[in-house]
Amino acid sequence: VAKTQSLGVFVYTCAVDGHSPQRLALFGDLRRALDLGELELHYQPQISTATGALVGVEALVRWQHPARGLVFPDEFIPMAEHTGVIGPLTRYVLGAALAQARRWLDARQALLVSVNLSARNLLDESLPGQVADLLAVHGVPAELLQLEVTESAIMIEPARAQRVLTALAGLGVRLSIDDFGAGYTSLSQLKTLPVSELKIDRSFVLTMATSPSDALIVRSIVDLGHNLGLSIVAEGVETAAALATLTGFGCDTAQGYLLSRPVPAGAFDLWRAERQLL
Ligand code: C2E
Ligand code: CA
Ligand code: CA
Ligand code: CA
Repeated sequence: VAKTQSLGVFVYTCAVDGHSPQRLALFGDLRRALDLGELELHYQPQISTATGALVGVEALVRWQHPARGLVFPDEFIPMAEHTGVIGPLTRYVLGAALAQARRWLDARQALLVSVNLSARNLLDESLPGQVADLLAVHGVPAELLQLEVTESAIMIEPARAQRVLTALAGLGVRLSIDDFGAGYTSLSQLKTLPVSELKIDRSFVLTMATSPSDALIVRSIVDLGHNLGLSIVAEGVETAAALATLTGFGCDTAQGYLLSRPVPAGAFDLWRAERQLL
């Protein structure tokens, strides 16, 4: 299936994979969905491998579609990118995540909240100003917000991405390189980016147990990151064995189905209360 490059190519892709009417309807609905508040965030915990303490959450967007039920981001983020809705969508997600961070603060919980940025967001030089405004509106300290960006998103226009990321870091917001190991960040570039965390791509974490070379890659990323003064988080932690391996490698933080699937804020609060991670 062709990669989406323009609206025309996208529509063609939909037509050949047999989902044309539904996908096209979805696409027309997305802007309206934003206005109607049909997008919601689910939260997935991140825990310290050393202590088991809860250190933060990743906010993951879902679309509560009136006819189709829960729609996952892989189905609509690409559309949002190719139709320009991604700007407003990211603003919405940031606002919702910061409102939740504020509710947790009011309950005496200082949780680091990670939000995903799209490639297009990194080309938008107005983003740092928007983030500053949203932090002020919601009264959340910048250090409690982390933004996840992928290597491939940075590589589209590295100079501009670097400017946007530097401005964001200047606010005190933390930056994480998502899906690390799956792309092509050069080591020299990694050194110049104002990043505080590497997030090891889940493809390596999922296959660590059966692939010695993937286990070696994971261990190497942990060592590389630590040598650069970065914190390392592994996603896709599905088994106790994977968690034990990561702990042995010195990986700082773990995230995955073993701990919890992404769930709405209410379910997350129950999960936390039950696990007594307070
Ligand atoms: P991602 O940033 O790599 O997010 C991690 C994905 O892995 C999530 O899928 C999560 O539910 C899933 N996951 C978590 N733990 C495990 C595990 O133990 N095993 C496996 N196999 N998977 C696990 P999700 O929520 O469907 O999100 C898919 C992608 O959509 C994300 O990948 C991210 O690139 C994008 N996305 C999600 N929310 C947003 C958003 O608010 N804005 C933007 N721009 N992109 C988003
Ligand atoms: Ca992510
Ligand atoms: Ca990821
Ligand atoms: Ca991804």
